[in-house]
Amino acid sequence: MKYFSTRGGARVEASEAIVKGLAPDGGLFVPESFPDRISFSELKGKTYQERAALILSAFLSDFSGDEVKMCVSNAYTDEKFDDKAIAPLHKLCDQLHILELWHGPTCAFKDMALQILPHLLTVSMRKQGKKEEIVILVATSGDTGKAALEGFKDVDGTRILVFYPEKGVSSIQRLQMVTQEGNNVGVAAVNGNFDHAQNGVKAIFTDAEFNAFLKQNGIALSSANSINWGRLVPQIVYYMSAWASLIEQGEIREGEAINIVVPTGNFGNILAAYYAGKLGLPIGRLICASNANDVLCDFVRTGVYDRMRTFHTTISPSMDILISSNLERFLFDITDGDTEQIKGYMSMLSKDGKYKVDASTLKKIQSILWAGTCDDGMTKDTIYRIAKKYDYIADPHTAVALCVYEQYVLETGDNRKTILASTASPYKFNDSVLSALQCDIPDDDFMRLSALHAESKMKIPNSLWDLKNKKERFHDVCMPNAMQDMVKKLLGL
Ligand SMILES: *Cc1c(COP(=O)(O)O)cnc(C)c1O
Repeated sequence: MKYFSTRGGARVEASEAIVKGLAPDGGLFVPESFPDRISFSELKGKTYQERAALILSAFLSDFSGDEVKMCVSNAYTDEKFDDKAIAPLHKLCDQLHILELWHGPTCAFKDMALQILPHLLTVSMRKQGKKEEIVILVATSGDTGKAALEGFKDVDGTRILVFYPEKGVSSIQRLQMVTQEGNNVGVAAVNGNFDHAQNGVKAIFTDAEFNAFLKQNGIALSSANSINWGRLVPQIVYYMSAWASLIEQGEIREGEAINIVVPTGNFGNILAAYYAGKLGLPIGRLICASNANDVLCDFVRTGVYDRMRTFHTTISPSMDILISSNLERFLFDITDGDTEQIKGYMSMLSKDGKYKVDASTLKKIQSILWAGTCDDGMTKDTIYRIAKKYDYIADPHTAVALCVYEQYVLETGDNRKTILASTASPYKFNDSVLSALQCDIPDDDFMRLSALHAESKMKIPNSLWDLKNKKERFHDVCMPNAMQDMVKKLLGL
């Protein structure tokens, strides 16, 4: 199976799509045809790792079975995940099952893909005959940087450098990054906001002279961002696996359609759920939950994608986004691969800041997706209500999804069984969660972890509690225009 670009160019193997990340014409890589459907009987009785190997193999057709197995067994280990199920289900009530995607080393769902991406990437580099050392450059607003550091830590043939905005991450997120262990990692703060850091990284990627200099030193830059096919395909696994587990547990019948709710930012996680549907998971509705940054909700309701709007900083920061890159893959699919149309939409988006899909496309979108939004006040209210009603503490991102799901049920009366993706541990966003629960909020990070433990009785993740005893290794701060020099410094060039 080959991959081509949503904008019509390229025709490459999976390994090349993973090495390149973005297609040369600016589009995203998509499979030219979908693998055969995977049935429940193929997943039945299998472990998460076995299911992952089966599903990844269906997409990564130039990987051998052993290569896929090696990637999977390096990624989803008991040492890295604090639950044997890897992505366990929590039954909130008869109708609603929470799929917890935050049992990995950084307590957020990015681990599900970033634990395996480094292995997929090194195998892909070898297949593509590339000899350079890969240096992953990441600009992060918090979750991605730490998850990428943990994923690439001590993976042979790779190094990873992360830039974070000096004042733009929470104190626990900063601690997670500056104490990062590993022999191939580097972290620096940028004196500016996330956009400064991101623009700085983009400038480094597109600087031909600098890239030539790196090549002379045996180094190739790469990115780990969520448009890479190697990040998307591992996310299909947990939806398929959760579906199979619900059938095994007798919660649903084989063939019974279920709804899936996803707290959405860049549209990667919900797209993976849609792809799981194409792979055989019977989906009723996909419910797309946004915070106050409601660009996707407006799109699903009106057919107009308009990024020209105020950017809101919210208590669910990993969903604060105005351009949801992976939507391009969804549009490609529902227009039956109409690359001219996709090119048109994307050029309007960059020129005018918006585009509008035609009436029949909108109708199709609405038959698949339902969308809603939830602001910070509603998010906190939801955390409080769910805690009181079900004795379950949700993080703010998960609470956005819970709130939008309640709106969906109220509006449609659809009582189908539902899986809701929970994307972060409440401990990771402990100040917002404590505030929502109307508790006192201690100044100190670790006292907040203890306070939340007293309230929730949930185990404090070791990876957060152990930060207490870790040494701060990285102290560098640079101006946005000096990031290139920082890269040289961190690489010892
Ligand atoms: C990244 C992230 C999201 C958004 O996921 P997308 O794939 O970008 O839509 C939601 N919640 C958390 C905690 C995240 O880290």
